Order: sequence, then structure tokens, then C-alpha cells
Amino acid sequence: MKIFISVDIEGVAGVVLPAHGQPGNLEYEDARRLMTEEANAAIAGAFDGGAVEVLVNDSHGPMINLLPDLLDPRAELIRGQIKPGSMFSGLDDTYAGAMCVGYHAAAGDHGVLAHTYSTRDFTGVRLNGVAASEAMFFGAYAGAMGVPVILISGDDVTARTCGSLFAGAEVVQVKTALGQRAARAVSPHEARKRIREAAERAVRAAGTMKPFRVIEPCDVAFDLTSATRADICATIPAAIRYAPLTVGFKTETVADAIRWMAVCAMLGSHVT
Ligand SMILES: [Zn+2]
Repeated sequence: MKIFISVDIEGVAGVVLPAHGQPGNLEYEDARRLMTEEANAAIAGAFDGGAVEVLVNDSHGPMINLLPDLLDPRAELIRGQIKPGSMFSGLDDTYAGAMCVGYHAAAGDHGVLAHTYSTRDFTGVRLNGVAASEAMFFGAYAGAMGVPVILISGDDVTARTCGSLFAGAEVVQVKTALGQRAARAVSPHEARKRIREAAERAVRAAGTMKPFRVIEPCDVAFDLTSATRADICATIPAAIRYAPLTVGFKTETVADAIRWMAVCAMLGSHVT
């Protein structure tokens, strides 16, 4: 049985500040180690549960956060960007399940470091008219391949809003949001214990879990952080300008909706 693990940083126990996710800070060096250890807990649990192959995808920012020499050597690691599939790069229909470790709530929600894909670019993102988290986008991306999300970890808001999308999935809460940049968290050791045990249960039950699917074709819409960013995104011929700050696309697949999200975020890097 092959298991796929996507690892983000904002939902890791102990992570509360933007600096925790930004290379070049002391806080970041702490956070990437905590992130790597939570990934290790998920990997260990996956093998405990019967996985024979585990693929880990580094899914935060520059996507070179996980420390390869500290990662459980039984797993293979995808790092770096730009890559097809982005946060779920490497996933295909041969996997029995996907795990979202260290995930966070959607843009506009009240979870720790809540955002969707790019804090700099988006104040809100909607998929088929519904406020969408990264877990929703990539869970649907996996679901379109017939692969269920079998575990998600993060704060209480993530557990409630994202966990509820994935019927039967293990939901691991490692902290309680007190605000965008504050949380009450369990010890990193306790977080890893919970993730490892949940990952084992998730893999054992993977065959009973249903993929999360959204209606395709899709409508995706982005609320940009400035009119200039919206102007730039609106230059794409397929773009629809719904409002001064809102640009959207109609796409055949959720995979293409994710591609447009990546394109709009990359274009935003050109705004000074
Ligand atoms: Zn993220």
C-alpha cells in the first residue's frame, strides 16, 4: 500500500508567527525542525499501519523546509518548486490515501496563520462559491483521482472546517487558535504521538474511506489584496473580473483551478 503525505508548516504544534514560515529567521529554523518531526510521526504511523511505500511532499512556501537528513529514511521526499501538483505533487491514482500534516484554516477564517495559498495575494478564495482552504483544493484534487484524504492535522479551526470535508478521516488537533498569531498547543512530543497513532489507524482504515469530490467543471474566484494585483490577474484572457478586487476562472477540473491559483500568486510576485 502506497501512502502520500503533504506537509505544511502553519498547523504544526508550536508554530504561531509568520516568521516561523519565513526562511532567514531563527524562529524558522525551529519551526522547520518541528515540521520535520511531525512528518516523521506521520511516516512512522503509516508504516505501522501497513504502508509499504511513503512519499512525502514539502508543501510550504519555497517547499524546501523539511530537513532531508532528519526525515525517516524509509520515505522519499519531493522538495522544491515549481512542480506539477504543487502541494500534492507526486500523487497519482496508485496511492491508497493522502495525509495533510501541519495544515491550516482558509483565508478569512480565524485559525492560526489562516490563509489560502498566498497571504500576500489573496484575502479570500472560493471554489464553486464556497470559501476554500488548501485542504479543500488539494483534497478535491486527490478525490478526482479517486484517492481519499485519510488524515489531517492542525489547529481546532482546521480540524473543524477541513476535517469535516473528509468522511472517516482521522483529524488530529495539535493546538487551539487564540488568534491569527497565537495558540495554545500541546507539546510537540504529544502532537507527534497523536499524529503517529492517528496515521496508523488511518492507513488501516484507508480502504473504507471515500474520496472527497467537488463538482467539475469548477468556478474559482480570488479576492486579491490590492486592485493592482487584481488588474494584473485580469489581464489573463480567461479571467473574469467579478469585482474591483475579485478575479475568477471557469475551469474543466479542480486541477486547473489550482493552476490558476498558482498563476495568480506567481503574478503577484511582480507587484512591488
Ligand atoms: Zn499552507
